[in-house]
Amino acid sequence: MSVGNLRHWVFDMDGTLTVAVHDFVAIRRALDIPPEDDILTHLAALPAEQGQAKHAWLLEHERELAVASQAAPGAVELVRELAARGYRLGILTRNARELAHITLQAIGIADCFDEADVLGRDDALPKPDPQGLLSLSKAWGVAPAQMVMVGDYRFDLECARAAGAHSVLVNLPENPWPELADWHAADCNVLAQMIAHR
Ligand SMILES: [Mg+2]
Repeated sequence: MSVGNLRHWVFDMDGTLTVAVHDFVAIRRALDIPPEDDILTHLAALPAEQGQAKHAWLLEHERELAVASQAAPGAVELVRELAARGYRLGILTRNARELAHITLQAIGIADCFDEADVLGRDDALPKPDPQGLLSLSKAWGVAPAQMVMVGDYRFDLECARAAGAHSVLVNLPENPWPELADWHAADCNVLAQMIAHR
């Protein structure tokens, strides 16, 4: 099967549609989170007051990054091509939903997504949990097997696998997770070329 025949696409945002700018080492240092811990899992396990304060810091930090977002190579052209074909497009991000909207606006593709199809970390359990993909599947009335998840990290691919959706790894020169990715493209320009040949 060609990935271009799939008509329901869900994108990770940071590092997939945008150039990765999150400095996770600096974030962990600022929030006193051990290097081996997952940031969101760590914050969720903190006492409420401490967790809220650190979440607030993270949101403010991420807001500054969102406003200054830059599109990943080929990402705008790819999303515009899929939208022009009438494909259904969604976002599943571990970022906050309102920051996802700011980011999509900053890179100029907000109009390609229905607001309800942009899911942030408060809308679904964080990837690799498949909850977000499954809720888009339900909202769109399509089986997960008709959907493809595009991302730049293992969690995106594992999320797709767990949901029963297809997966594309982008923005890495090599594929470190061949068992998890159905397709690999070095960047969104390459992915756009892949879908041009249907
Ligand atoms: Mg990412």
